[in-house]
Amino acid sequence: MSRISDRVNALSPSQTLAMSQKSNELKAAGIDVINLSVGEPDFPTPSHIKEAAKEAVDRNFSFYTPVPGYMSLRKAIAAKLSRENGLTFDPAQIVVGNGAKQALCNVILTLVNPGDEVLIPVPAWVSYVEMVKLAEGTPVTVHAGIEQDFKVTAAQIEAAITPKTRVIMLCSPSNPTGSVYTRDELKSIVEVIARHPNLTVLSDEIYEHINFTGSFTSLASFPEIADRTVIINGVSKAYAMTGWRIGYMAGPTDIAKAVSKLQSQYTSGASSIAQKAAEAAYDGPQECVAEMCAAFRRRRDLIVALASEIPGLEVNRPDGAFYLFPKVESYIGKRHGDKVIADSGELAMYLLNEAHVATVDGAAFCAPGYIRLSYATSDDNIREAMRRIANALAALK
Ligand code: PMP
Ligand code: GLU
Repeated sequence: MSRISDRVNALSPSQTLAMSQKSNELKAAGIDVINLSVGEPDFPTPSHIKEAAKEAVDRNFSFYTPVPGYMSLRKAIAAKLSRENGLTFDPAQIVVGNGAKQALCNVILTLVNPGDEVLIPVPAWVSYVEMVKLAEGTPVTVHAGIEQDFKVTAAQIEAAITPKTRVIMLCSPSNPTGSVYTRDELKSIVEVIARHPNLTVLSDEIYEHINFTGSFTSLASFPEIADRTVIINGVSKAYAMTGWRIGYMAGPTDIAKAVSKLQSQYTSGASSIAQKAAEAAYDGPQECVAEMCAAFRRRRDLIVALASEIPGLEVNRPDGAFYLFPKVESYIGKRHGDKVIADSGELAMYLLNEAHVATVDGAAFCAPGYIRLSYATSDDNIREAMRRIANALAALK
């Protein structure tokens, strides 16, 4: 009998983090691996943010923090939501946690009872389904392949709603596909949600600023559903602060209060120093955000051009985030020596072992038959990685 709980036994490990670790182990063993697996900006945190953290150390921001986060940080987040999204939030509606990941998990644990259904358009980020399982909810996936630019339609969502559906999770710009819903597409989804008053919307807006369309619409900006939409966001992607671990939820006061109660028994308030750094990110100059977005856009153009030249890869043109999600089905069933590549997971392992390029199996995002490439790396790495992938794929018979 296992002494590990059923709850944890039922979870899959995060495959994005696992693949990145595998790639680091190969690197440590002296193999020149290019890591396109984990998704995180490769830029250092901007210096004014680092300075704010150093100052916080010197000013003794070393004590426990309020469970929902410093009032000054929650005010800075409320100001950001007003300035950038035209939304009015009181600090009492905001709870800061250890990254957007904890903010998401907090909200799911707060909203989902055992057996409740949670709608998840897929491909979706690795942790959504697992977090719902942790809450003993039932993940209900709604599929959108490359032929529909990985975006679910309002009709697909309507068809998946049952009397047990409690939450719908949306992510735009999307991890792992980079797709960005237009305002009109969101509007038609909102019209469906508006007809189902028991649904709460969880809108993951962590890639808000890595968006090449020039416009971003928060789901909380639709008055029809504003009072039951919870925004998830944070500093990890926009300000290149993945290791600082600051994210937040912003939503109805009763949900914020319940999330704060959960967090009080679980992790307490997030790191004092990281919170002061995040405050500087929101209150400080914003040019760094646009500069990093411009670099990601250039790299998007580069990787799309190179991937489109590889025969058999089906590629779309992502409008945001820093991922490419090519369909690799034409390579499934091909041989490497006497070994058959049985699925996209085996293809990702083949690319790691033979081409020394780390990617992530689409199955981790509920989309087997695809792989995810993170292009948050240098132009040189992108060129070399795509050259290696092209050669390795050409060698399959
Ligand atoms: N949502 C999505 C879609 C993500 O890609 C990530 C990054 N892993 C997160 C949430 C979590 O971000 P954080 O690093 O702030 O926990
Ligand atoms: N957003 C990143 C990714 O998807 C971070 C890794 C993770 O937390 O899963 O690769």
